[in-house]
Amino acid sequence: MALVEHKRYHVTTFGCQMNVHDSERMKGMLESLGYAQADERADADLILFNTCSIREAADNRFIAHLGEAKRLKSEDPERVIGVGGCWAQSVKDEVFERFPFVDVAFGPGQIARLAEFLASDSLSAQGYFEFEDFSGHLPMKREREFQAWLQISQGCNCRCSYCIVPSTRGRERSRDPAELVAEVEALVADGVREVTLLGQNVNSYGRDLGASRTTFAELLALIDGVDGVERLRYTSPHPKDMREDVVRAHAELAAVCEHIHLPLQSGSGSVLKAMRRTYNRERYLDRVALIREHVPDCALTTDIIVGFPGETEEDFAQTLEVVDDVGYDGAFTFLFSPRRGTEAAELGDQVPHAVKRERMARLVELVQRRARERAQRFVGRTMEVLVEGGTRRDPGQLRGRTRHNKAVNFEGTASVGELVEVEIESATSQTLTGHERLLSRVP
Ligand code: SF4
Repeated sequence: MALVEHKRYHVTTFGCQMNVHDSERMKGMLESLGYAQADERADADLILFNTCSIREAADNRFIAHLGEAKRLKSEDPERVIGVGGCWAQSVKDEVFERFPFVDVAFGPGQIARLAEFLASDSLSAQGYFEFEDFSGHLPMKREREFQAWLQISQGCNCRCSYCIVPSTRGRERSRDPAELVAEVEALVADGVREVTLLGQNVNSYGRDLGASRTTFAELLALIDGVDGVERLRYTSPHPKDMREDVVRAHAELAAVCEHIHLPLQSGSGSVLKAMRRTYNRERYLDRVALIREHVPDCALTTDIIVGFPGETEEDFAQTLEVVDDVGYDGAFTFLFSPRRGTEAAELGDQVPHAVKRERMARLVELVQRRARERAQRFVGRTMEVLVEGGTRRDPGQLRGRTRHNKAVNFEGTASVGELVEVEIESATSQTLTGHERLLSRVP
């Protein structure tokens, strides 16, 4: 592949961790071709967007950015504009018609084709949208030195009625377990201490692997077995696949952290049915009980959608009941917004915006109160923290995360990437505060 001299790229990333990972791969691939990163979009020869399509609002935000790229292209027609990710995949049939200044567009499974396009002398715009490959095969430029994302699967076989992902990332395909272990060994050799496994439905890993079928729990054990992996995390799991062997892995495998993200979405059986989440409240709470039985101190976080079509005050009250009952350590809360191309967007009985906002306010208040109560269990304890840097507010203060994925701000002298013992003095719903216990460094 022809190398390019002195050409610079700029990537803007929207959306989820999988997109953050894909952008790290895009940058790694471009730098292997000889491109260098430009800090400002206006200084780049190649302007790229890695897009999200989970909510209509995300589209609108991105299109505003695309407007600036159009202006930059008109100033210098040699510039190349490229759009990748889920939004590109969702508008694949109309992207060049709607945005004629875009030179190349590619879906989440086609990042490698960008290199092909850049090496070709193609004068016409090119689109690549097959659900072919894993970006995980490409070189990676990690944003965080001691932490790494590892894509273990792509796509999703579920059919949640509000979600566009199955149509933008295709059906579930798992990467070969031996390839993943080899990649983790290379990451550790490169200084990584914490690995986060990525997949749309991470705990259904392996079902499509035929003869080399490996379950998610077995994959956790394989990666836990790699010397140098201090911490192992994963996102995003589905409650329907949160089996006992996965929960036991948190109790039995040294590197697997005491944090599970278990999306609830709603506490109402009828809303869960309309969402096609394939579990009900009882099954969900049964998973929570299993986790609390095997890993009593495990941190639990979740995702909740407020105002799904047809959601009554009674339905919402059931969501509040589950939140109060479980006592999450944190939650991502979203206002339902109809996503064009999804079943839920066509549903009647859309909840008025003012009602959604009022319910969201009550939910956030409850989530924060319960998270604050839960966080008090860390006060007075000494927690292992992976140092990530200084705090924005006070550069003299350090910040990092516990194995429970709780953010910690603390006084200390450690360096980024070190594992240190921190004595916790106080806790809010979001953050713990403390001081480094001297002579506590983990080599
Ligand atoms: S599990 Fe549901 S919400 Fe998650 S990616 Fe698949 S379809 Fe979307």
